[in-house]
Amino acid sequence: MVTIKGKQYMTDFEAKKAILDIGRRMYQKGFVAANDGNISCKVGPDTIWTTCTGVSKGFMTQDMLVKMNVNGKVIVGSRKPSSEVKMHLRVYEENPDVMAVTHAHPPVATSFAIAGISLDKAVLPEAVVQLGTVPIARYAKPGSQEVPDSIAPFCKEYNGVLLANHGALTWGGDIMEAFYRLESLEYYATILMYTGNILGKQNELSCKQVDDLLDIRQKLGITSGGAPSCALNATNQQDVVNYAASNSADITLNGVTPLVRPSKDDISCGCGSISEKKLDVEAANKSKAEIVDEVVRRVVAQLNV
Ligand SMILES: [Zn+2]
Repeated sequence: MVTIKGKQYMTDFEAKKAILDIGRRMYQKGFVAANDGNISCKVGPDTIWTTCTGVSKGFMTQDMLVKMNVNGKVIVGSRKPSSEVKMHLRVYEENPDVMAVTHAHPPVATSFAIAGISLDKAVLPEAVVQLGTVPIARYAKPGSQEVPDSIAPFCKEYNGVLLANHGALTWGGDIMEAFYRLESLEYYATILMYTGNILGKQNELSCKQVDDLLDIRQKLGITSGGAPSCALNATNQQDVVNYAASNSADITLNGVTPLVRPSKDDISCGCGSISEKKLDVEAANKSKAEIVDEVVRRVVAQLNV
C-alpha cells in the first residue's frame, strides 16, 4: 500500500494482482458468462487499474489490464478498456470514498433487475447491516452516456445498484469490500427468490427489528445502504415445531409441480416397481411440512446451490 495525500492506495502490483483474483472468483461463482463483467480499483486520487474489453474474467493475465486516469485516458497498457468503465468512473466521481467497483451479471440479481423489482425487503439482518437496500437504475443503452447518468443518483447513498435489464454494480472502500457486496447482493436476491417465489412465504423483519439493525449499522460506521421496508408487527417471535399443524392455509409453491399423495388404490394396484410403490407409501405417510421440505430440497438441488 502507498499513502498519497493522507489516503491509502494499493500499489500498481497489488491492484493488478487483486483484479485478476477477483475476476477468477467472479467467474467461478457464475456471476459472469463468457466475457461479461468488469472490475476496477483506484491506485491514486486520479488513477485506476481496470479490465480490458473482450476477455473472460476467469482467465485474465496482467497484460489484459489497463491503467487509466479518471477522465478516461489510458496511461498504461495496449488494450482497450471496456466501454462499461464509464460506470466505474462515474461512481468514483460521485463518491470520493469509493476505492473499487465491480460489475457482473449474477443470474438471480439480474433476474430481479429484469423484473424491475428492487432488493429492499428486510428479511436478513446481514443484508440490512452490511449491504443495505439495492435500487434499480433505469434502463440505458449499453455503452452510452445514459448508463453512467442512470446510476449517478445512487452512488452516495447506496452500496450497489441493479441495472435494469442488464446486471449489478457494487462499490466499496477497497476491492474486497466491493466484491463481497456483489456476493451479498446475489445471495440476498437468491434468498428473496426462494422465500418469495418458491416457498411463497416471507416473515419480514418488523420496523422495530429493522431500527435495531440500523442502530448497529450506524455504530459500525456504515453510513450508506438506505432503509428497507418493514412489517408493522413481528411475525418471527414464536418457536415453530410443526408448521403444518399450526397453519391450515396451503403453501403456494410457485412454478413447482406439487408432490401428490397417492390414494390407497394407487398403492395396491400392482403397477410400477416395488421400489416405486415403497416410495409412494412413504410419501403417503409424510406430513405436509415434510413434503414441502422435500420439494424445497429438490428445487435447491436442481438449482445446484
Ligand atoms: Zn454488463
